[in-house]
Amino acid sequence: MADEYNIGLGNDDLETRKKAEFDFTSFWNDQAKQLSWFRPWTSTLDWKQPFAQWFVGGLINASYNALDIHQQTKATKPAILWEGENGESKVLTYKDLWIQVQKFANALKSLGVQKGDRITIYLPMVPELPISMLACSRIGATHTVVFSGFSSSSLKDRIDDSKSKIVITADGGYRRGSVVKLKEVVDDAIKDLDFVQNVIVLERTKNKIQLNSRDKLWNDLISESSEECEPEKLDSNHPLYILYTSGTTGKPKGVLHGTGGYLTHLHSTYKWAFDIKDSDIFFCTADIGWVTGHSYVVYGPLLHGATEVMYEGAPDFPDVSRMWDIIQKYKVTIFYTTPTALRMFMKYGDDLPNSFDLSTLRLLGTVGEPINPEVWKWYFKIIGKEKCPIIDTWWQTETGGMMISPLPGLETIPLKPGSATRPIPGVSISVVDEKGNDVAANTKGYLVIRKPWPGMLLTLWNDDEKYKNVYWSKYPNCYYSGDYAIKDEDGYLWLLGRADDVLKVAGHRIGTAELESSIVSHEDIAESAVCGVPDEIKGEKIIAFAVRKESSTKDIPTLRDEIIQKVRSGIGPIATPEQIYFVSKLPKTRSGKIMRRLLKAIASNEKIGDISTLEDGAAVSEVQSAFEELKKSIKKKQF
Ligand code: ATP
Ligand code: MG
Repeated sequence: MADEYNIGLGNDDLETRKKAEFDFTSFWNDQAKQLSWFRPWTSTLDWKQPFAQWFVGGLINASYNALDIHQQTKATKPAILWEGENGESKVLTYKDLWIQVQKFANALKSLGVQKGDRITIYLPMVPELPISMLACSRIGATHTVVFSGFSSSSLKDRIDDSKSKIVITADGGYRRGSVVKLKEVVDDAIKDLDFVQNVIVLERTKNKIQLNSRDKLWNDLISESSEECEPEKLDSNHPLYILYTSGTTGKPKGVLHGTGGYLTHLHSTYKWAFDIKDSDIFFCTADIGWVTGHSYVVYGPLLHGATEVMYEGAPDFPDVSRMWDIIQKYKVTIFYTTPTALRMFMKYGDDLPNSFDLSTLRLLGTVGEPINPEVWKWYFKIIGKEKCPIIDTWWQTETGGMMISPLPGLETIPLKPGSATRPIPGVSISVVDEKGNDVAANTKGYLVIRKPWPGMLLTLWNDDEKYKNVYWSKYPNCYYSGDYAIKDEDGYLWLLGRADDVLKVAGHRIGTAELESSIVSHEDIAESAVCGVPDEIKGEKIIAFAVRKESSTKDIPTLRDEIIQKVRSGIGPIATPEQIYFVSKLPKTRSGKIMRRLLKAIASNEKIGDISTLEDGAAVSEVQSAFEELKKSIKKKQF
């Protein structure tokens, strides 16, 4: 029996779930009415499996819903409290943002941008990033944001795939105190891409750049443009953006999202999950280059007229207490981050967070990876001081918004550390076996989604066939998420990682998340990753990598024995790792996910292979240095 935490915010809306269960279409129909539409829809859902069209016939604009609707009541309210990596700060009110978006939208128009054009945005975490996105959405251009840590070849692939006519970038971006020369990366990426008509360059770091004939400076463009730009009245299913997935499991996919359905999903989940109030200061640490940043830094908070902190730099710069410093400085009330970041903070002990005033916090969230119970409890106790509910939110780039999560803004339910609890209302999720039948309680299976939902992707950009193959071919009638899960006897869902990360040892299928969680439950261990390498007898044998906490003083053989003991008693002897390697960090994608494919190649002594696939989703230099470190420690046989 897992621990239970009865901590809520006193909300107890029983009606919403009931309505959703009764009829999910009319439920979402009601939710969509909370947005501002130029023309109502004639049909709530047009479902031609696997393609869903929501709110058909409706006309809407995302930037209008994020900005214009607040001008009567919230013009002077801060929308973005921006914190630069070097400590500088800026406040943008709803009016500031509204004006800047309109000016920039006019600038885009002056370059000939039209409804339906694709625009690649390759910017650091500066206010001009959401401004660019909202300007695109204002005029009906489809934005495709590429995380600014990507190399030129990854950027090129994405610009080429989306056939973007404009690229928006900066001279440079700050990362851990140094300048990343973004403009140079763009120049390299587009040198053979003739369809790119213009590059718009924001001067952020003022490093020297070369201006080519197709380049325009951001400031020159907006200095000439008017402050008024009427929002385009767009079809509900007009493509709002393309976003490439993290590429944890392979080549990234160009996920295409629409407008009306996506915004409805975000409006509802942002309110239910974060219980947002006018006085809240919201802080989501995700980079806007990933879906969490699109949904819960840009669109979700702005739809609600919330005030949020946006941070430019690395979470550990100038040191690992930067996040706590920001929470204290801005009196943050809601904090949303990743388990990976939490494990990093936890590694450095409790004294750092304890030396800051975190008392304004009232709600904490995580996303991106399974959160192991140890980290959950640390987050709850040390950061939330045992008074903040923790929402572990499961969702994907493809789902657009949260799908499984506690919803303190709606209802109070007991929390279980490590479980994302239940699906949100109006979403139908099952855990099934190979044949698509529901598995019994407490049995591992594949997580599938049985009915369309409003934030659902429209398709994969320019590739309906791939869309069908990836998500709709394993089971004929439901969306295949690619993740493993368990539903317990109370109906709580426990995410066990990716189905293709599963280890097969002597006929047993062992989820990587389960095993890693068991290793991290050792008090000396901060992070862990496991992978399988081929074994003639067992099929696969388990290799574990572990990162020790700063405070750990135990000798390696003792630590190793203790971890093995934990795994044997927690999961069973079958899951005993063959070897445990102690390393100082693990290779991850730039979205913070462990790249087990890479570990597997290292542990099996295989060639890492084509470096370009590694690059998909990972900053090459970071992965390579982690990889070198792993190789060295393997040579030293540190186990
Ligand atoms: P790719 O599909 O290209 O391999 P990716 O799946 O890493 O990339 P994202 O869409 O950013 O790209 O990540 C979604 C995945 O993250 C989910 O499928 C799941 O594996 C994991 N995930 C997200 N949130 C949670 C969570 N709360 N608990 C467990 N896993 C989570
Ligand atoms: Mg995925």
